[in-house]
Amino acid sequence: MDKVMIIGCGAYMDSGYGCPGEWRCLKAASLGEGNFASPSQVVGFLKCECPGRPLIANLGMAIKLSEIKPDLIYLSSCLANAKPGCPYSSPEEMAELIQSKTGIEVKLGTHDYH
Ligand code: SF4
Repeated sequence: MDKVMIIGCGAYMDSGYGCPGEWRCLKAASLGEGNFASPSQVVGFLKCECPGRPLIANLGMAIKLSEIKPDLIYLSSCLANAKPGCPYSSPEEMAELIQSKTGIEVKLGTHDYH
């Protein structure tokens, strides 16, 4: 079973629209639905915070302190499919940066529930 970390858009999460951390990402991961090829173990759930600068450091700290290197990192659907999009970086840029800093593959999006 893959061990995964999920990163949500904090600006969206804090707006109380009923997105990440509630159930969608977690359900998709546990059942292997949406963008998860098979049931996966969520070993970390991080919140990006505008303008996103501490994200890589926070991610590195989560990996170090949890002593678990995830097999995959997911940008949540609310982050990867945001409309209007993040004003600071595109999901593709964010994924590339995370991948280059951690060496871990990054997937864009988690679930397709409404
Ligand atoms: S920097 Fe972008 S992805 Fe991160 S919290 Fe702000 S709007 Fe969301």
